[in-house]
Amino acid sequence: MTVVVLALDALDAGLVEHFDLDAFRLASSGDLETFARTQDVPYTPEVWATVATGLPPEEHGITGGGTSEWDNPVLEGLSRISGRLDESTRGTLGKVVRSQTGEREQIGRTDAASIFDAEDAVVHNWPGVADGRPLQRAWDLMNAVAEGMPRSTFERELFGQCAQQFSWAREMLRHPVSIAGVHVHALDAAGHAYADDEDALRRVYTRVSEFVEEVVDALEDGDDLLLLSDHGMHTEFYPPDDGENPATHSWRAYASSTTDTCPESVFDVKAWIDAQASTTRVEGRADESEEAIDVPEDHLRELGYLD
Ligand SMILES: [Zn+2]
Repeated sequence: MTVVVLALDALDAGLVEHFDLDAFRLASSGDLETFARTQDVPYTPEVWATVATGLPPEEHGITGGGTSEWDNPVLEGLSRISGRLDESTRGTLGKVVRSQTGEREQIGRTDAASIFDAEDAVVHNWPGVADGRPLQRAWDLMNAVAEGMPRSTFERELFGQCAQQFSWAREMLRHPVSIAGVHVHALDAAGHAYADDEDALRRVYTRVSEFVEEVVDALEDGDDLLLLSDHGMHTEFYPPDDGENPATHSWRAYASSTTDTCPESVFDVKAWIDAQASTTRVEGRADESEEAIDVPEDHLRELGYLD
């Protein structure tokens, strides 16, 4: 039996209520306490590394300043400065450096133990822990939006990424997996782009809630789902945000689960998932599924697939 963890970046507890979307409200739900170190507001890779490891940034090593690992040591200084800027500015700096030097910034990866080290646990992409490239692509997308990408192209890219990430989660439910985690950046990207456009952001929230419903529908007895965010997003139209700067991260992180409890802090998530996964052990597999596959190597060698 499987615990699916959907890391829904910037899913805002206030906007879940404002848009009144039941799909985000599973058996239990509530505010999730989050934190900021490098910036004044929660910073994406820093928080997700904490969620997966249960450790503060001082211990998992993923911070705004250390998030960029430039191959070129000459650029390290610039990287450290840009780590203190907001994400979109950082993305722009990264792009300038890329276009002038061909270097590509990378999101650091922690060496600390994480939920995905558990037996039969799998992860698709997770900032600071496993494959940060989808987040980098999402940041690239934000750069393209800032440079005038049309809405239709933006949403095609955004929901195309969503489709891959959510359908991966559904597929994992068909396999003997203990924990399946995936990070989805769509609500953060849309929150930055549509903080002044209530109808547009409501549309994106609604579409993402449909993806969540499809995962819920795929759960079988004993499977559980945990939705989490690292922070929320200030908007122009949400009344409590009056006086706040729209399109900046809010402190309204959120958690919801199909069980009768939810983690209360980003620091508690790892212990919560470990406890949940141990009560929903992976069931014994048929012996044949553990057998190695007899591959016809000669044919593959002829095709150049094998050395
Ligand atoms: Zn985030």
